[in-house]
Amino acid sequence: MKGNINIPFRVGIGLDAHQLRKGRKLLLGGVSIPFPLGLYGHSDADVLLHALIDALCGAIGLPDIGTQFPDTDPKYHNANSQELFKTVLTRVNRTGYRIAQIDAILVCDQPKINPYVPEIRRSLARLAKIPEDLIGIKAKTTEGTHLALPQKSIAALVTILLINQ
Ligand code: MG
Repeated sequence: MKGNINIPFRVGIGLDAHQLRKGRKLLLGGVSIPFPLGLYGHSDADVLLHALIDALCGAIGLPDIGTQFPDTDPKYHNANSQELFKTVLTRVNRTGYRIAQIDAILVCDQPKINPYVPEIRRSLARLAKIPEDLIGIKAKTTEGTHLALPQKSIAALVTILLINQ
């Protein structure tokens, strides 16, 4: 059933994971992190932005990132995830909603993310057009569990709150 979706708030959740491999850049939230391994994927594999994009899509019922930007399409080979995010945010803004708040968890054992959290927050604030205070980023290790493949991958979980302008 379709109805009036002009509600004051909408929430979204996004999850993504990519493997760490040699010969790749490590990008998290649009920030390049110096490390011998980077995330592998068809695009630039920015796992945090991918989870954020899926959270945005989910909040307003758009198809997910893989449907909108298929990894079988050569057009998105090495695609800049910041540009994909801007494309989706423009679509979201056209519906009358803007981002009010973001909360994110990065799951990885290496590298240590905490030193980069301030820069990642600044980057997300610039992209999402909200103050840094409205962005949460936590870095968690796997503690030897299988939450993410220890040493071999990075996962991101993001929640987002949209507000009707
Ligand atoms: Mg991805």
